[in-house]
Amino acid sequence: MKTVRTFAEVRSLEQGKVGLVPTMGYLHEGHLELIETAANRCDTTVVSVFVNPLQFGDTTDLDSYPADLQRDVELATSAGANIVFAPAVDEMYANNEAVGVAVADVGDAMEGVHRPGHFEGVATVVAKLFAGIQPDLAFFGRKDAQQLALVSTMAAGLSMPVEVVGCPTVRESDGLALSSRNTRLSPGARIQAALLSAALFGAADRFARGERRAGALTTTVHERLAHEPGLALEYVEVADAASAGLIDEIIDLSFLALAATVGGVRLIDNVFLDGRDGSLDVGSRLDGQSILYGGDTCS
Ligand code: AMP
Repeated sequence: MKTVRTFAEVRSLEQGKVGLVPTMGYLHEGHLELIETAANRCDTTVVSVFVNPLQFGDTTDLDSYPADLQRDVELATSAGANIVFAPAVDEMYANNEAVGVAVADVGDAMEGVHRPGHFEGVATVVAKLFAGIQPDLAFFGRKDAQQLALVSTMAAGLSMPVEVVGCPTVRESDGLALSSRNTRLSPGARIQAALLSAALFGAADRFARGERRAGALTTTVHERLAHEPGLALEYVEVADAASAGLIDEIIDLSFLALAATVGGVRLIDNVFLDGRDGSLDVGSRLDGQSILYGGDTCS
């Protein structure tokens, strides 16, 4: 395992088929699952750890983002990574403030409405990682479903020779989707946060029983989460998985997504619903407590 700071160093160490797992660090089992999947499919697995200032509108969120590179290196190694790329902001952005990547449409709804500029930041940093590291495969979580659609659209649209692979969401034992931000929830907010996935699972059950109308599914979620003090829903939407365009009826692979703030912490979650064969992907759950809370550091 090597920890390096420049693109040139990453490229000099790469051998065979290269897999990239982009992260903002403070790794949890969701990230480790991506790294394990990459390590199974690739000869060299690169994990990037970079808290990208370009994708944060809210500087408080940026400043309070947890960071511990030594911990990340140990965890990435245990999951099978060969290289951790932890660039300084200058390596990523020196001398090229005028260059950025915009992807039309796919970033417009949902997160695009509530986090202006976020997806330009994501598209730009991922394009730079793809250009500098030149991976054959890149692994992203379905947890960030709109981001996955955006990155896939960008890679195809710019003819980038990389296969973008989406991986299922990993959840805490009560269903809450793993996120580095979960560490900022107060004990009371942490209990309430589990209601988000419970509401999505309730809607997924309706889908499993044959409901295909987006409005009926989003209403199920709204009804379960209305009247929860301290929990504020930002949106609940159903979107096409490939285009992230909002839809009224589920015919193809789609996702039901929500964003909410719970005790002041912003969380997102979703379930994937496939209208073609009625199958679901609600992710997997940990048996015990997550490594986010300082326990065992093995996956
Ligand atoms: P982040 O560090 O939050 O930017 O996430 C880095 C990558 O890990 C992204 O592709 C995320 O979609 C993915 N990811 C984050 N949380 C989870 C999770 N709970 N399950 C699976 N993948 C995740």
